[in-house]
Formats: sequence, structure tokens, C-alpha cells
Amino acid sequence: MDHGLPLLRVEAIEQGVVNRDLGRHAPRLRLSTDNRRLDGWNPHPGSTDRTLTPGTAAPSIGVRNARYELLVVVNGQSEREKMLADNEINRVLVVTAHPDDADFGAAGTVALFVDRGVEVTYLLVTDGDAGGNERTLDNTGMAELRRTEQTAAAKAVGVTDVRFLGHADGTVVPSLALRKDIARVIRQVRPDLVITHHPERNYQFIAPSHPDHRAVGGSTLDAVYPDARNPYAFPELVKEEGLAAWTVREVWLMGGSTPNHWTDITEAIDRKLTALQSHVSQVAHVEGFADFVKTRFASWAEQAGFGEGHYAEAFQTVTTA
Ligand SMILES: [Zn+2]
Repeated sequence: MDHGLPLLRVEAIEQGVVNRDLGRHAPRLRLSTDNRRLDGWNPHPGSTDRTLTPGTAAPSIGVRNARYELLVVVNGQSEREKMLADNEINRVLVVTAHPDDADFGAAGTVALFVDRGVEVTYLLVTDGDAGGNERTLDNTGMAELRRTEQTAAAKAVGVTDVRFLGHADGTVVPSLALRKDIARVIRQVRPDLVITHHPERNYQFIAPSHPDHRAVGGSTLDAVYPDARNPYAFPELVKEEGLAAWTVREVWLMGGSTPNHWTDITEAIDRKLTALQSHVSQVAHVEGFADFVKTRFASWAEQAGFGEGHYAEAFQTVTTA
């Protein structure tokens, strides 16, 4: 379907109909209701063939009860993005490299998923055995401690299904073995949505680009497409383990430099903080940790246009259906 060239970067939209002065900033509209994405929206007739430029007023956005399409502009190129509606997300798999990664990147979003009955599974590629501060434990002891911490952190946001692949911390590389391990769990869990690390280096902010994160993000995307959905990839998964092929329809990437989707996690910020503070070996020594967390996620909310006193997590969404 040709929508013309709606050079409108839609990052989010407000409840109902909004008419917003875009000011000097890049065009931005916001849609959120009770921290949830709406079932659907469509641009008001007449707005889709209009080129919006910074400084022009936003068109009216009518929210309708239909699957929605986002027409976005990234780096000046228009691109259509179809996102799953709330009621299409019933199972979520979060794949991360280390204990605490899911809690930094997505625990608020996860808490809100759990609130509305979504089943969430955490899959950790390593036990974080090379982490910690001024530690006395050896790597085996640290692995055991960090599994316990991650299990507690998951519980703080209502997640009880936590799985560990046991790869060695700091040594993860994209590999067929890792792809197979992740594809196996995708076929077991059969998620609608997978959340994982962004596989590309973020040059604006180095912390999310740990080599293990990039390896896990890349291998997870490879496991989503093509491995998990192709019954002839790793055929032993079917023959020996009875795991049928499964197509994940959407992936959200954490830690990238080009986010296009923000979750308003204001309602869940306390639970996110509790989850993060469950990683005692990682954060107990960090002075002002709670303030640091709040400041960081408030800045995402500001970027998303959620307003004062809000907190947000940011993702780049990828349609993988
Ligand atoms: Zn990590």
C-alpha cells in the first residue's frame, strides 16, 4: 500500500486525538494510554500525504481500533514499521548476556507485561562469573551468586522462568552453537516478542556495547531468523527434541543508538529499581545508585516526550514476521 511520503517520525502518540505544536524539534507525536500501546491508530485522512518539517504543527491523529502502522523516518529515509498490538503479545523471551542486563534494559517494560498477564521468560547466556567488585569468590562461586541474584531480580518484576545457558562470561562470540542454544529456547517458549541486546556498537554510549552483548544480540537475531523458524536448520532439534519450528514476529533491541520505541515505565520504576538492587554483587558498592537509575530513565522519558516525572525504557523495534 502506497502512503505517499509521510515524512513524519512517529515515536509515540498521545491518547485520543492530539494536535501538537512541534516547535523547533524533529516532528514527534506521542501515543500512550496507561503505559500501554493502543490497539491501533491511523493518521487522520489527509495527513499521510503531507510532508512535515520541524516547526510545523502536528496533524490530528485519530486513534482507531485497528492494527496500526508506524511510518517513520530514520536517518532521513522513510521506512514503514508494523508493530504488534498489545493483544498480540502473549509470550515474551528476553535474551541477555549477563545477570543484570535485562534489569537495566527492560525490567520496567517486563513488569508492565507481567501486569497484564504476559508470560515472560529470561534466558541468560552467561552466569556473569567474571563480574563483581573487590570479590573474594572464585568464578564458580560468583556464577552461583549471580544466578541467585538474577532469580531474585526476575521475581521483583514477576518473572519466575529464568534459564541459564552457562557460557563463560566475557568470551561470548557469535557462533552456530550459541544460535542453536537460543533457537532451542525460542522453540520451547514460542514467544511473540523477543527482547535482546542491540548487536551493533553504540558510539554515543559505550556501556551497552560489551562484546558479549553484541554477540548475544547478533546470535539471537540469527536464531530468530532463520534458525528457529526453519525446520531444516538444526534438524536434530526436531528429530531428537521434538521442537517444532517457531516464527518470532517482533524483536526489540536494547542499548542501541537509534531507538524508535519507548515504554513509559513510571508505574514500574520502583520494581525496576528493586530488580536492579537485587544484583547486590554488582551495585551495592555504587554510591547514589537509585538516583543514577532514576536520572538515566527520566532522560529517556524526556526524549520520548513523556513529560516531567516520567521514566522510560528505549528500544529499536524490528519486525521479524
Ligand atoms: Zn551485560
